Amino acid sequence: MSEPMKIKLDRTVCDGFGICARHAPEYFSLDDWDYASLIGDGTVPESDRDGVVRALMDCPVHAITVLHPKPNGANGSRTQDSTAASRTAGS
Ligand code: SF4
Repeated sequence: MSEPMKIKLDRTVCDGFGICARHAPEYFSLDDWDYASLIGDGTVPESDRDGVVRALMDCPVHAITVLHPKPNGANGSRTQDSTAASRTAGS
């Protein structure tokens, strides 16, 4: 059995596009200005994974990251590890 996906939302990066809440309204709520908040602790069961990964991939400012594990088949999505690795590689 695989470990559930865990995500985090960086509200300092969120630019209020509201796309995440359209894809996964159970995980992202929007305030009056359409800035997102994460609902719950970021744990995403397998059954909800597709919508959340779509939200992650469609977020224009990459405010949503996967803490673990890396999403299967979700090319282009960002994880803490890949972001850190690209920063290191570019320096
Ligand atoms: S899609 Fe990204 S920028 Fe838009 S509300 Fe969600 S987290 Fe914020």
